[in-house]
Amino acid sequence: MAYSYEAPVSQSLFDRASAVTPGGVNSPVRAFRAVGGTPRFMVSGTGPYLTDADGREYVDLVCSWGPMILGHSHPEVIAAVQEAVSRGTSFGTPGEGEVALAEEIVARIEPVERVRLVSSGTEATMSAIRLARGFTGRAKVVKFAGCYHGHVDALLAAAGSGVATFGLPDTPGVTGATAGDTVVLPYNDLDAVRAAFAAHPGEIACVITEASPGNMGVVPPADGFNAGLKELCAANGALYISDEVMTGFRTSKAGWYGVDGVRPDLMTFGKVMGGGFPAAAFGGRGDVMAHLAPAGPVYQAGTLSGNPVATAAGLAQLRLLDDAAYAKIDAVSAELRSLVGDALTKEGVAHTVSAASNMFSVFFTDRPVRNYDDAKKQDVFRFTAFFHSMLEQGVYLPPSAFESWFVSTAHDERAIERIAAALPAAARAASEATA
Ligand code: PLP
Repeated sequence: MAYSYEAPVSQSLFDRASAVTPGGVNSPVRAFRAVGGTPRFMVSGTGPYLTDADGREYVDLVCSWGPMILGHSHPEVIAAVQEAVSRGTSFGTPGEGEVALAEEIVARIEPVERVRLVSSGTEATMSAIRLARGFTGRAKVVKFAGCYHGHVDALLAAAGSGVATFGLPDTPGVTGATAGDTVVLPYNDLDAVRAAFAAHPGEIACVITEASPGNMGVVPPADGFNAGLKELCAANGALYISDEVMTGFRTSKAGWYGVDGVRPDLMTFGKVMGGGFPAAAFGGRGDVMAHLAPAGPVYQAGTLSGNPVATAAGLAQLRLLDDAAYAKIDAVSAELRSLVGDALTKEGVAHTVSAASNMFSVFFTDRPVRNYDDAKKQDVFRFTAFFHSMLEQGVYLPPSAFESWFVSTAHDERAIERIAAALPAAARAASEATA
């Protein structure tokens, strides 16, 4: 598909990038392959806005895929980073900043009795399942189709649909041996989880789930689903791992735990807690975390874990996230959801605006979306047309129909007005799109 607007500087940077980096990007979804066109190379961000290499400004509804919950270049976060950087960038020793960040996490999220800092969400989930296996002495991991937990080998398996399936590798490079211990089940289906426990008695180490999924678009857990997982895990001697890399410190002060109150055995965090730097964490029950080296036998380590600059950024961001900040983000999200829904309704476009607290996404279908199979049945071609119209009008959406949209405290009336002004044409483009 050809687009009527151009981004010559981004295009030439993308050409240079493609000569030295596979696909021209360092993380696949940035390449715009799902929507086509030239990925925008950004040069700066302020508040709710990003500016690309061609000098065009966008209202940002990606927020770096979640972390920038206070908007870009928040002065207090920048000041904390500058202060930390002025003292050095990495010491390879313990430091007070990492203690303070761990204390902040433990204070906010009651089920977290002990926490270990790492550098990415992938590392957090990889370490959490290793710990679950080490703690229980069992091999199998249950995950749900459509839930993404980073590019951990065992968690990339998402084969099969329907009832309990032995995972097959979803990507070359993940061996059958690695994926063979992963059981992939349909999301929001407690009967499938019951059946998996019955089929593998005494073999399942843990069930890992996104606390409220955002990686198949936003598909919240059905009432009682997370509580049911917790109960089934407890009844079968497995650990319940809630992946809050996306929801943590975003959907409330205590993340999704603050919304549904279901107490996980282990939790994983990332994104918001790093303030735009590589900082992530896993934590939970003290007796389980005590199995982690050097306190216990399960090995886990990191040269840059608890990095002083990253922890300073994360701590500054978390300290600014008070009740008023969450009220603001929730209000911005609610306003945008209704603006988007109204614009699509006006053009007669079948859609569902699906929300979990302040996370939301738009499915181009009016059928209910409860799992990944449902999400895949939407009219993706309509999203593509909608996306490009918004981009052309200066609104940066996630370049995929299967991602959450993110807002921040910095999305003020001016930014919302710009989005509102772009919506009618984008809704029209979606309505006129053909498969
Ligand atoms: N878990 C969830 C729920 C995520 O959304 C992501 C990333 O999007 C990850 C884990 C992986 O985090 P990272 O990209 O920092 O490795």
